[in-house]
Order: sequence, then C-alpha cells, then structure tokens
Amino acid sequence: MKGRKLLMIPGPIEFEPEVLQALGAPTTSHTAPDFIASFGNSLRMMKKVWECPDGQSFIMAGSGTLAMDMAGANLIEPGDKALVISTGYFGERYAELLKRYGANVSILRSEPGETVSLSVIENALKKDKFKLMTFTHVDTSTGVMVNPKPIGELGRKYDVLTVLDGVCSVAGEEMRQQQWGIDMALTASQKAIGVPPGLALLVASPKAMDAWKNRKTPVGNYYCDWTHWLPIMQAYEEGRPSYFGTPSVNLVAALEVSLKMILAEGMENRVARHKALAKEFREKIREMEFRMMPVNEDISANTLSAIYFPESINASEFMGGMAKSDVIVAPGLLPELKSKYFRVGHMGSVNLSDIVSTIAAIENTINQLKNLP
Ligand SMILES: *Cc1c(COP(=O)(O)O)cnc(C)c1O
Repeated sequence: MKGRKLLMIPGPIEFEPEVLQALGAPTTSHTAPDFIASFGNSLRMMKKVWECPDGQSFIMAGSGTLAMDMAGANLIEPGDKALVISTGYFGERYAELLKRYGANVSILRSEPGETVSLSVIENALKKDKFKLMTFTHVDTSTGVMVNPKPIGELGRKYDVLTVLDGVCSVAGEEMRQQQWGIDMALTASQKAIGVPPGLALLVASPKAMDAWKNRKTPVGNYYCDWTHWLPIMQAYEEGRPSYFGTPSVNLVAALEVSLKMILAEGMENRVARHKALAKEFREKIREMEFRMMPVNEDISANTLSAIYFPESINASEFMGGMAKSDVIVAPGLLPELKSKYFRVGHMGSVNLSDIVSTIAAIENTINQLKNLP
C-alpha cells in the first residue's frame, strides 16, 4: 500500500482490521439491542482480561487520563493522604491529579530506568496512614515494569487502596487484579487493548466501591462521579439501556471485537507473545550497541522499550532519518532526558515481522548516518 507506515509507538498502535471495520459500521442508537449487548459483553469481558471476576468495570468516553481521574475523583476526599510510587512521567501526572482533589500527596521517586524498592515503600506505609497509593505498571516514559503483586500485598497488609495505572500494560502484560489485591486497574483503548483512542477503561474492586460509597463528601467532579455511572454500567450489564452521557457507540462496538480477539488468543498466550517479541527486540537492539533504559531484564516492559542513543549517534539526525523510513517510532518523554533516548512500542497486534521491520529501519538509519559526508 502506498504511503503505508508501520506504527511502532506506545499508543496509538496498529489496529486489527476487524476492529477498524466495527468502528466504521453505521452508528446505532445507544439504546439499540445490539449496542446494549456489545456494551454488556465488553463490561463482562474486561473482568476476564483484568482477571477480576468480583470487580466493577467502567467504560467511559475519554482517554487514559480520564481513567486516572476517575480514581482521584471517586476515591479521594479533601485531606486524604495518598502515596504515589513514581517510575517516570505518569507518576508525576498522578501526583498532580490527586492534589486537585485535595489529597495530601507523598511521592516516592525512582531514578530513570529503575523502580522504587519495596522496603522504601513499606517504610513509607509504616510511618504514615495512607488512604490510597498509586503506581504505574509500565511507565511509558522509561519502559520500566513494576511487579504489582508485592505492592498489592503491601496494600492489604497496611489497609491502603491500590491503584494501578495500567494504560501501557493491560492486555499486554500479566494481569491478575483480584489475586494480587489491586483495588483499581485502569487503561485506555489505544494501547495494548487495541482500539483507536477515545475510551477510558477501568475495573474497581468491591473494596474500592465501598470506599466510594462511604465518602463523607460528594465527588467534586460532575462527569467522573460514579453516582452517575454505576447505574449505567449495571444496567448495560443486565441488558437494559440507561442514560447519563451518550456512550461512544462505535468505539464500544470496536472494543467488543478487540476483547473477543484478546480472549480468543488467551491471556497466557498473549502475554507470552509479548514477552518473546520484546526479548527478541531487546537482543537485536543491544547487538547494535544501544543501551536500554531499564537497568535489568526483570524490570523491562514487554509492551514498549526505551532506548538510549550511544555517544556515536546524533539524536536529532537519527530521529530525522527514522521519520523518512517506513516505521514510526517515538521520541523520549522524560523532560530531563528527552534528547538522550527514543521509544518503540511493541504491543497489541504486534508480530515478528513488525519487530524485524523495525530493527531493519533502525539499522538502515544508522548506516545512512554513518555514510553522511
Ligand atoms: C498513555 C498513558 C497514559 C495517558 O493516557 P492518555 O490516553 O494519553 O490520556 C497514562 N499512563 C500511562 C502509563 C500511559 O502509558
């Protein structure tokens, strides 16, 4: 196809043709029986992908940041103490967001490419009584993956609600929300879930729903308030239409198709595919004398890679060369290191040919730079 480029950024990603077809189907009423079924199926399938059978799923029109906002709006009351475990750009965003709802925020930061150690987190939880803590499963600015399991355990031990920003992980990395004791896990459609941008998705545990029910003050955000949305989600799951704000009819139809494809592949197979392709990608990248930002394999994400330029490569020349290739990659995101690294997304429908094409484009670009006068 003329002008066709391979989109290898950490969202939006390459989407399956079946998903795009669903998006292009004629828009129905949000109360049409087919749409009610799509919405209900999607809410139910989300709980399978998240592995949270007891959870409450929400599908909202908006981006991943709205999904983050839903946690702040519904779970924080002015004066509540919140702990943000930050492994990069999106941790900083979460701290700012929670402050808007009046939270008293403490932040634990890692160096770029590293994680915050569990002992540092536990010490903070021992010293202070927090209502909620957030962490980023895969930080899109550093390619660092945090293991949610021990953080879920700490949340239970110290009775703190745990919020997982899974925008760059859900449906790409291992996810066992209920077993791990994660109280809210959120994402957006355009990343590993594989649907064009426009849906904020989350699953909340019964404990998170109780924390919201037991609020003493009203939710300070009209659109995000679960008082409006919980009855809508319950109605669609029970096969009835209900209205608060018009749902994204076409996007929800596309979501149903994508979730069906995800479950047909099976979460274990899907995670294994992401792991194998990410490992292959990292090996080939290292052979080209690049260095990965995550300091070791155990904390390297399988959905994207953040890659430092070697001294021998001029970053802006490299990005200029890549822009002329048939593969689209992303620049750095951390403000302090922006020109020192670049990022490649490898999630969702990604296959071995995509990995090979991306490596080839990077190799060609480097060779062209070497041949410059
Ligand atoms: C992309 C991303 C977000 C923000 O999502 P938007 O859809 O751009 O609002 C938040 N957190 C993480 C980890 C992300 O990767």
